[in-house]
Amino acid sequence: MKSKTTSLIISGFIFSILVIPAFFLKQSISLLFATVLWDAVVGVLAYFMLARGQISKFRAILFVLLAWAFLFLFKFKPLQFQDSSYCHIAISSILLNFVHNQYLAITGGRWGIFGVLSLGFLWLVLTFILGQAWCSWVCFYGGFDEGFSRVLKKPFLKFRLPAKLRDFSIAFALFIIIISFTTAIPIFCVWVCPLKATTGFFDSDMLVRHVQLTLFILITAFSLVILPLVIKKRTFCSFLCPFGAFISVFGQINPFRISIDTQKCTQCKACIEKCPVFAINETNLTRGLISNYCNRCGACMDICPAEAIRITFFGKEISLPQNFPLVLREIFEVRTIFIVICLLISGAVSNSFMPQALIKLVKMIMGGL
Ligand code: SF4
Ligand code: SF4
Repeated sequence: MKSKTTSLIISGFIFSILVIPAFFLKQSISLLFATVLWDAVVGVLAYFMLARGQISKFRAILFVLLAWAFLFLFKFKPLQFQDSSYCHIAISSILLNFVHNQYLAITGGRWGIFGVLSLGFLWLVLTFILGQAWCSWVCFYGGFDEGFSRVLKKPFLKFRLPAKLRDFSIAFALFIIIISFTTAIPIFCVWVCPLKATTGFFDSDMLVRHVQLTLFILITAFSLVILPLVIKKRTFCSFLCPFGAFISVFGQINPFRISIDTQKCTQCKACIEKCPVFAINETNLTRGLISNYCNRCGACMDICPAEAIRITFFGKEISLPQNFPLVLREIFEVRTIFIVICLLISGAVSNSFMPQALIKLVKMIMGGL
């Protein structure tokens, strides 16, 4: 828990950094107002995250809102492959195709001005900074299974995953990448992705479209809704997302890591139960290291009764000496810096669609009155 002063300074800082660029963009007053409103929400969530010392609950509010706003906005304005189709899930699953054909699922729209390669570079830098924190703080798809996994207080069915099966995600991603490369078709997008709800079914053959629709319904129902509801785990993100599997590889070089103090840990296993993506097992507790699949969501830290789990910088807790003022010590803690970086990236990404979604929602409500 941080002092009120620190929490106010940090949340004000996050709000200011997010909102200032909006005043320099040529945009309508309504869009500016919606951006200010949304950035204020991010600032308030940052305040509670710090002042209450609970990361996961307030992060989840932000994260679930992102997913539903994204779906809401693009349900009415579907993404087009030749227009503004940016999709990080697609990028990872057709990476080889890009290397071979110079093709990437970013072909124009606002992203076009940066060029495909520079955007790809930016994406790699962000992946390096955040690692799989992307999957719990920024990804505007992940909030669906996270939201459903939080509906029930306790799991309807307690499910323990055998440790080796956690690697299924990597095997599945490799399979998708290789098949996409050999067929020159983005297989994941065409046959697996539940986010086709934001795009559409492009195949002209009606039989193929019906099979795709059936798969779409089954995969969406089971991996995004039913399983997360019943076992309280993020099943789509844990096993089917090729992007999540791809960036888990960065786990060992990502600077921000979750570490367990083995001296403090009482082996109560509450963190194993709580982790939504099966990233902790008994071996991790003994070694004090959490697996590469960790999303840095904060749930284990919030629940650990022994306060044995921390965010570290390359495995180390770095802090200012005790003779520095409390506010400065709190600001320059690894945990605070990590939260600030995640919220700034999440806020900046969501600023590109959340204000528009808010305006659309207001217009719909007004139109219905
Ligand atoms: S919740 Fe904390 S004390 Fe319990 S097993 Fe996990 S790290 Fe150890
Ligand atoms: S290990 Fe902890 S921080 Fe990492 S994903 Fe699991 S609950 Fe979240």
